[in-house]
Amino acid sequence: MESLNGIKIVSFDVDGTLIKSDFNDLIWQKEIPSLYARKREVSFEKAIKMIMEEYNRVGENNLCWYSMDFWIKHFHLDVRVDDIISKYESRIEVYPEVPFVLKKLEEKYPLIIITMMPSEFLLPKLKKIGNYFKSTFSTISDFGDLKSPQGYLKICQRLQISPVNLLHIGDQWEADYLSPKKANINAIFLDRKNEKIAKREWIIKSLDELPKIL
Ligand SMILES: [Mg+2]
Repeated sequence: MESLNGIKIVSFDVDGTLIKSDFNDLIWQKEIPSLYARKREVSFEKAIKMIMEEYNRVGENNLCWYSMDFWIKHFHLDVRVDDIISKYESRIEVYPEVPFVLKKLEEKYPLIIITMMPSEFLLPKLKKIGNYFKSTFSTISDFGDLKSPQGYLKICQRLQISPVNLLHIGDQWEADYLSPKKANINAIFLDRKNEKIAKREWIIKSLDELPKIL
């Protein structure tokens, strides 16, 4: 891994990388449908069917899809984003190896966060993870962008570094691996679910492997 020599900043994705995804699932698949069921006086089963259809209709390529506020307004729910966040905040779970790994790496590199989720999701998670990060970026909130190669390049510009000086680690093949690679950024794919062939370069199964290679 010769190009690791040039790494100046190490970046982490959040959901599925540092934090278990259950928190987001609770909001999208439990809280929003429950509120909708109550509002429309229909069963939860009926509500979730309706909601899922609506999520799919709007689609992940539409930036609105990621916004809690958008869905609250869309379904005319009587709730605020903050209410939902504080209701489920205690359910945010950090992967067990995270504190050790971040502590170890921050001795050598400035660490940053690059997430696709809006910043309202990020703040309660950062409280759980701890204060290891020099900067945090939400591509949606900061640039109105998903994790496109252009989005990553904008972050490099903000950080005033060349793409080859950044290493990003995350659990989504397209968004966290292929996309930064297209922008000439180094990337490591975190394959927690064992989807890719083991032992390939730039693929790790757990963050535990990072202190050994960085
Ligand atoms: Mg992720």
